[in-house]
Amino acid sequence: PVEYVACPLITNGQPTGTVVAFQDVTERRRLDRMKDEFISTVSHELRTPLTSLRAALGLIGGGVLDKRPEKMAQMLDVAIGNCDRLVRLVNDILDFERINSGRLQLVYGEVNAVDLLRRATDLQHSSATRAGIVFRIDAEPVNLWVDSDRILQTLTNLISNAIKFSPHESEIRLRAHALNDTQAVLEVQDRGRGIPPEKLEMIFERFQQVDASDSREMGGTGLGLAICRSIVHHHGGRIWAESNEGSGSTFFFTVPRGPLPGQPPPERTITP
Ligand code: ADP
Repeated sequence: PVEYVACPLITNGQPTGTVVAFQDVTERRRLDRMKDEFISTVSHELRTPLTSLRAALGLIGGGVLDKRPEKMAQMLDVAIGNCDRLVRLVNDILDFERINSGRLQLVYGEVNAVDLLRRATDLQHSSATRAGIVFRIDAEPVNLWVDSDRILQTLTNLISNAIKFSPHESEIRLRAHALNDTQAVLEVQDRGRGIPPEKLEMIFERFQQVDASDSREMGGTGLGLAICRSIVHHHGGRIWAESNEGSGSTFFFTVPRGPLPGQPPPERTITP
């Protein structure tokens, strides 16, 4: 679709013609449509926990549970759980919006892959221990040129999914190696239920789950992988998953090993 603006051309106070400017608005309409769709999905995602919260508060406030303390405690748990879910959702929505609208400023620096994987597993240590899961890091000490907070966020998202979908007492393997002179690959592999082949791509879209109950039962928001994908794309990398249904999934993503064209080189401290 094309829109146009026309305005008269006046020379010496006399109308002498008309200037018409045409503009292709296909992209703008596509973005408007995406935004409308996003608002409608977000409203739907927010409504579910709000409805549960309202129902729990209604029961607590209605007096029917006053003589049933264990039921009262259960309803309070439901209310708190839904509040937590709303906070997570809103945080993820804000983060996703910020990244996608191009307002994300990456702060690049040099970081070693082994250090980064260790920091990521340290952050997930307690939830892994609770699930009886052990981490195994198998990485080349390759240097990466990344925004380490954002790549740590990506790894944390992938590891927390791996923990959620893994059986008790299993192993999660993290690997890193150089792909070529300019790129490295990081991997998170679990021994969980796996992902059907037809869903391997769509899970990176916002609010897409393999199973509709995943998000509520597993405490996710459905935005984790969409956020990971945006962060990796901002680094000029690529993210994908491979899986053997029933025996686990591996998530891979590439990151630069050195400054992208046009970026300043890393500052090094030279010790004599
Ligand atoms: P969520 O917050 O629901 O975890 P994500 O975007 O992180 O959202 O993941 C989207 C969906 O992809 C999950 O709900 C789940 O169905 C599937 N998924 C992600 N990681 C894994 C994994 N390691 N094993 C199996 N399924 C996974």
